Amino acid sequence: MAELHEECGVFGVYVPQRQNLGSLTYYGLFALQHRGQESCGIVVNDDGLFTVHKDLGLLTDVFDREELDKFPQGTISVGHVRYGTTGGTNRANTQPIVINHMKGKMALAHNGNLSNALALRTKLELGGALFHGTSDTEIIAYIVAQQRLKTPSIEQAVSNAMDFLEGAYSVVLMSAAKLIALRDPNGFRPLCMGKLPDGGIVFASESCALAAVGARFARDVEPGEIITVDETGIRSDRSHCGTRSRTMCIFEYIYFARPDSVLDGVGVHEARKRAGRILAKRHPVEADLVVGVPDSGLDAALGYSEESGIPFGQGFLKNRYVGRTFISPGQDNRVDLVRQKLSPIVSEVRGKRIVLIDDSIVRGTTSGQIVGLLREAGAKEIHMRISAPPFRNPCYYGTDIDSREHLIACRHSVPEIARIIGTDTLGYLPMEDLKELIGCSDYCDACFSGNYPTEIPESFEKDHFEAPLSRRKPKGERK
Ligand code: SF4
Repeated sequence: MAELHEECGVFGVYVPQRQNLGSLTYYGLFALQHRGQESCGIVVNDDGLFTVHKDLGLLTDVFDREELDKFPQGTISVGHVRYGTTGGTNRANTQPIVINHMKGKMALAHNGNLSNALALRTKLELGGALFHGTSDTEIIAYIVAQQRLKTPSIEQAVSNAMDFLEGAYSVVLMSAAKLIALRDPNGFRPLCMGKLPDGGIVFASESCALAAVGARFARDVEPGEIITVDETGIRSDRSHCGTRSRTMCIFEYIYFARPDSVLDGVGVHEARKRAGRILAKRHPVEADLVVGVPDSGLDAALGYSEESGIPFGQGFLKNRYVGRTFISPGQDNRVDLVRQKLSPIVSEVRGKRIVLIDDSIVRGTTSGQIVGLLREAGAKEIHMRISAPPFRNPCYYGTDIDSREHLIACRHSVPEIARIIGTDTLGYLPMEDLKELIGCSDYCDACFSGNYPTEIPESFEKDHFEAPLSRRKPKGERK
């Protein structure tokens, strides 16, 4: 149960005949809700007329049947769920972003983070650009609109814009007549394409959203690829493919993505089980029960159990109703949030030696509380195993992995962390075994290794665009 937030989820659909795309997009986004819970939005395009509804909150907060019925029928739609990693949580930063430019209209939804956002935006603002919000997505929209003035088509404008962008961006973009999906040349964030039974085309951050709307998985959008769909068919521009090495975020497999998704040909559930199997080999221990911390520790716990022969058990019940709107206990230390989310099943764990599997330890606070719950429930021994290496570096590509001063592994050795969180033993997935999870070495592991696949920004505060230009000084690398 990582103390981390996912980034965002995007969804786009093109159909040959007008139909109720508001609902279809809603259901696609619903399957991606785990990727962002701060805000959400849908834009439906009916022959160039864009109808937008977006707001802060979960899909169930922002949309009801009445709201969905207000969308007209259409042929193209894009949608977004957001957790903001650049720009604050406010209505101006909700997506999709809709802009009117000299050559028409555009709606755009983005997952990722531009690592050169500060330099780009400062340059644009010094040239007179105005921005409504403070997210880096507006920068992408602005540059595409600028390039559209010089190019014969929106897809050519997108291709030109990609020359300026650094970092992570999986984007769905809609003009009056076209749906375009693009993925950065590193391929940090996932993006896939599916086909609807009526010939419609769907793009989504994860394949689980294709299944949710009855679409058949067709293929992944390749890193650097631009796919355009319009009434003439589907076209792929691969001119940016292969310009960078592929560096898909390995933490998508460990924690962010849904276990039933397949990303770049690798099943998330299978990758997590492999992590569990590796942990069983690298950090064996005599125990009575393997318990996974719900939800993202469960698959790795199964793998550990299968490899070690130690039975798998349901050690915790997760309260499914603790969501974004739950009133957090905050400073009231008599009740903690973890206690509201997780409840140990006493009959399963009492008197037993437990192998406890989780996906990560960030600050250590949550892990300590989970271990405390098991101790209270009567566990005799607790041996914690983590299905990722220790976090030692911040992420600049669309997640909120923290500055170094907050990462427990930056300040303490593994035995010290074990003592702090109260486990008998602690073992992490070794760095050298990460490649076994997905069967290749084409991934980003910078938050573990410090090897960043792009230049890292000189400043990376989530709210750095909230400050006026004169006070927006580079603050140096995050500590
Ligand atoms: S730094 Fe970590 S979380 Fe960020 S993209 Fe790389 S692997 Fe993923």
